[in-house]
Amino acid sequence: MSGEAAFGFPNGVVMAHGIRRPHEAVDYEALVRAYPPPPEYFESAYYASPEEIERVQLARLRERAHRAYRIPFHRNRWERAGFHPDDLESLDDLWRAPSYTVDDIRQSIESHPPFGDYQGVRVDGANEEPLRVFMSGATTGAARPTFYTQWDREAGAILTARALYMFGIRPGDVVLNAWAYSTHNGAFSFDEAVHRWLNGVVLTTSTGNVTSSRRQVQMARDYQATAILTTGDYMLRLAEVAREMGLDPKEDFNIRALPNIGDSTKLEATWGVPSYQSYGFHEVQWVAVECPERNGLHVFEDAFVVQVVDPETGERLPDGETGSLVVTEIYKTGSAQFRYNIMDLSFLYPRERCACGSWLRRIGPFAGRGDNMVKLRGVNVWPEAIGEIACDGPLMDPDYFVRAIREGDRDDMVVHVVTRADRAQWGALKEETERRLQESLGLKIGVVLAEPRGIDALTEVETSPKPKRFRDERG
Ligand SMILES: [Zn+2]
Repeated sequence: MSGEAAFGFPNGVVMAHGIRRPHEAVDYEALVRAYPPPPEYFESAYYASPEEIERVQLARLRERAHRAYRIPFHRNRWERAGFHPDDLESLDDLWRAPSYTVDDIRQSIESHPPFGDYQGVRVDGANEEPLRVFMSGATTGAARPTFYTQWDREAGAILTARALYMFGIRPGDVVLNAWAYSTHNGAFSFDEAVHRWLNGVVLTTSTGNVTSSRRQVQMARDYQATAILTTGDYMLRLAEVAREMGLDPKEDFNIRALPNIGDSTKLEATWGVPSYQSYGFHEVQWVAVECPERNGLHVFEDAFVVQVVDPETGERLPDGETGSLVVTEIYKTGSAQFRYNIMDLSFLYPRERCACGSWLRRIGPFAGRGDNMVKLRGVNVWPEAIGEIACDGPLMDPDYFVRAIREGDRDDMVVHVVTRADRAQWGALKEETERRLQESLGLKIGVVLAEPRGIDALTEVETSPKPKRFRDERG
């Protein structure tokens, strides 16, 4: 495949003054052939046959494995596990490569500060092609840097652009970018996607600290923005501010897409347009996006191979079973993510044709974090799964908090859940909820009912950017 041969530097480019400019570092023709941007993507690779999808995946996987093999972090781990890139004769052989988690990345940084030994490029490589570095994970431990080549930025932006297109953003749209322009990748990924690959006009407002919420609302209205890139919570906050300003979110704006991760039902009801799910993370950008059938998220399989494993043992799980996502990107030229066990929980659908016409494999929506898993009397349980079941009643609010506790010699779990039911009904409702949990999980989980706002102290919803849902009190 000609696109594969040009993966990286185009041949025959003469470096002027010893440095390569973006157009010299990346063969843009090869880039869009290999990873079509929208709308072309939705007229081509999105409808590829299973054979074509897997043929491309295997070719890229092999190429990618040989690149990753040059990186000490991967090479050392692979040698210890007895894996070599030449072992990849089929997609199934990917299971022979060891996976790693964020803890391995942290150790790599500790032993090789400040960048770790997992980067595929070094600062002095910036002469050969423009490089960027972004940080992730500062909330838990030290920030983890990832270097991106020019190719990685462009290909990653194409993937993000595909997701935004699926959400409903179109070339020529004005889009507000209210993510923080900081050391994190987020705001820049969106910016590059809209600016470079969707031909949209970006208003770089950044967060409410930089551009006040009233000003964001005013700009969204004046410039007829079709989307505001931010969290679901801030998107709802902006609707409140709009109402305070005498504006109706549904009538007085041109919002057409909701690329805002959060309470979909509330977002749709507030802004009056459909909200689709998606999945991605810092190091690789967008992995999967929901199609209008709303039956799973299609993986961009020309750029990723996704596997699902038991979060505790790392063993392969069958299709349909929830476990931790293990992601291998097959599009970057810089820092490799090769069997990265990201500890986000989901499941894989079997390969089958979706009603939208695409054969791309689908994953379930994000179902929580694998590292929150609690082993309770031999059974793996996730606080998010408990919360989902507990809240799934007609008188329940989607607000809960799970505690793991120790009573004597025994581990137990308790879920606090908010209800609008009359107090007289609480006895029966508690029993009914405990029965539902027992049926679904095969475990007895205690239920404590609360009135609306009654668990705010536990979830810290007023003070934390994201409500907390779990606390391990077992010491
Ligand atoms: Zn579909």
